[in-house]
Amino acid sequence: MMRLIYLCLALTFSFAVQAEESSRFMAPGDLIEGTGEGIVSKAIFFPNMRFPVESGPAYAKSHAYAPGGFKGGGGSECDEANYSYPWRDNFCEFRRADLPVCASGGHQGQDIRPASCEASKHWAVAADNGIVAHVGRFAVTIQTASGTLYRYVHLDMDTLQVKPMDKIAKGSRIGKVSNNWLTKLPIHLHFDAKDTVLLDGQAKSVFLPPYSSLVASYQLIMD
Ligand SMILES: [Zn+2]
Repeated sequence: MMRLIYLCLALTFSFAVQAEESSRFMAPGDLIEGTGEGIVSKAIFFPNMRFPVESGPAYAKSHAYAPGGFKGGGGSECDEANYSYPWRDNFCEFRRADLPVCASGGHQGQDIRPASCEASKHWAVAADNGIVAHVGRFAVTIQTASGTLYRYVHLDMDTLQVKPMDKIAKGSRIGKVSNNWLTKLPIHLHFDAKDTVLLDGQAKSVFLPPYSSLVASYQLIMD
């Protein structure tokens, strides 16, 4: 069943591009041991994406299963381990049970720490041209002309540069990365991306793995 879904995804997005692998990036689908079953596909589902933090370095990795995280076994959220390479996919990290593309339930996005352990300093920026489709308590969603939804969670909402229905240009500032949630979390951007794909022959709007797209877009701003 799950393999069928993966196959459909792979066929739908046959423009997969090989992401460069280096010491900076662990492979897509390689989750922290015991935190879920990742998707190993290197498909770049969002080839037009701009990296969603204005400038690097940035560190894509779990905030939960890491020092200072709620399943991290103690320590400080500012631990050097959280602000160093390599990146590690956490799209399918176990959090919830209803994400169809993750065998293990899934977390549905990627957690990204900005350059330093400081709230409300680093800008989240638009991953593509679009409109501001939603502004929530902790999050902003932008929608592209083709219908892709990019969501930015845990922003400092006092720093927002946008309001609902604003047009927004790729790379323009949305708000500053922070730690806002029902309880304060480690400082990070939760970034996710949703698109309509064929799953078992039916068109469905689902969260898709952003990791390889993040690697590719990060290389464009860093190399
Ligand atoms: Zn997250």
